[in-house]
Amino acid sequence: MTALPKLQPLTSPWMFKLIEDYALQEEIFNAHHSPVNVHHLPTFKKNVGDYKEILDGYGIKNQLFFARKANKFKNLIPAAVEAGIGIDTASFHELKQCLDLGIAADLLISTAAIKNNELLNLAIKNGVTIIIDNRDELEQTLNIAQQQNTTVKIGIRISGFMFNGEKLQSRFGFDIDDVETVIHDFFASAKTTQTIQLTGFHFHLDGYSTAQRGEALHQTLDLIERLRPQGFDFSFVDIGGGILMNYLAEATEWKNFQEILKQAVLGDHVPITYNNDGLGFKNRNGEIEGKLNTYPYYNENTKPHFLKAVLETENAAGKHVASRLKELDIQLRLEPGRSLLDQVGITMARVAHRKVDAQGNNLVGLEMNMSQMKSSSADFLLDPFACFKNPDPDAEAVDVYFTGAYCLERDVLLKRKITLPQLPAIGDTIIFVNTAGYMMHFFETEAHLFKRAANVALSTEKSSFTKEDFQSEDYVTPIPMYE
Ligand SMILES: *Cc1c(COP(=O)(O)O)cnc(C)c1O
Repeated sequence: MTALPKLQPLTSPWMFKLIEDYALQEEIFNAHHSPVNVHHLPTFKKNVGDYKEILDGYGIKNQLFFARKANKFKNLIPAAVEAGIGIDTASFHELKQCLDLGIAADLLISTAAIKNNELLNLAIKNGVTIIIDNRDELEQTLNIAQQQNTTVKIGIRISGFMFNGEKLQSRFGFDIDDVETVIHDFFASAKTTQTIQLTGFHFHLDGYSTAQRGEALHQTLDLIERLRPQGFDFSFVDIGGGILMNYLAEATEWKNFQEILKQAVLGDHVPITYNNDGLGFKNRNGEIEGKLNTYPYYNENTKPHFLKAVLETENAAGKHVASRLKELDIQLRLEPGRSLLDQVGITMARVAHRKVDAQGNNLVGLEMNMSQMKSSSADFLLDPFACFKNPDPDAEAVDVYFTGAYCLERDVLLKRKITLPQLPAIGDTIIFVNTAGYMMHFFETEAHLFKRAANVALSTEKSSFTKEDFQSEDYVTPIPMYE
């Protein structure tokens, strides 16, 4: 057996507590079936606090909105509000659920990519700020607000910023080169200005570049400076999310993994992925082509560094973003999703069967499916933990692939081959850590009529916990302070 490269995840003490307690895992499965997603709310609140500390440190006005779409668990909404931030909603139901929970309108924002009449009606009726993406939405918003005989606050989403001489293309928002004309035309009539209050601009850039975000902020502030003398009352710029988080403990493992993967793709190393999948690397006549097509699971550019780089970006006149925000009295808004969920969740599943395929691979079938732990990129690159009912110190290590419940050849839960200290038995537990941001929820489907996984919250700050400390969604009731 050749040693497979490891990718050891950053793992919190609360996760280890659960990983080390097979009896508790069994109780959780008995109550909620497999798989189960566990969320640690104190960690979520700590992440909020870390953000606040960094932003307040710059002395800029700021407001965070948790990007709800990154995780569907209801209990995170009151947790966000209790931690002092708002919610970025991206659909009718995301908004409705927050309103039903009694969240105040000024803590909500609607950034949905598609906004139908139902959504616009709901947002306008409740006084929620709407981020407008296109001209049709502007017209519809105006019409609905007039029908309701009310006013509405909007932000305008923009894109197409120039960066290093090239335009950053996007399907979202108004092009920055056209937006001034659109605003002039649209707000030409008093009727419009009486109904719609344009209060800010919004962008959310694809990818994770801090330089692009800093540059886009400067271009947005320039726009505000040009439009203010014409009577527009801007109070915020919202830069969306995309703030990086780090999943891995060791830089060397990340580098080593990519080297070995390339060797395997070239046939110079035994495969380390199912069917020798290159995860983006390709063998072109003996040379590696392409790049690793996954999230940058290891990176050192996490929130303190990321925000520093953005806020300290200089414009041509040598001014920092942060000092311009202060001078112009503009509130910086952020809508982080993934990075607020850092170390917040795990996904645990029970082993259903073991087998050996015709190529000699050990396949471990889990009671879950590929949609319940799925990255938008080529693979989820963290070593899972195996928890054995009967650990055997004398057992031989085995290399395995984990397979899921869908009738698809490609329902292989991780493309990576994983070394375990012993072959798991039926009923043993496999735990995937740090899955709360997108991984556990974003692509989850109910194919085959499999139920969606149960979600439970751990609200306790205690370092040890029992079955009673895990709360389901039913636990969430409207927030009393707003009732
Ligand atoms: C997805 C999205 C976010 C959240 O992005 P993260 O990468 O999870 O931080 C915020 N705002 C908008 C408009 C988005 O589309």
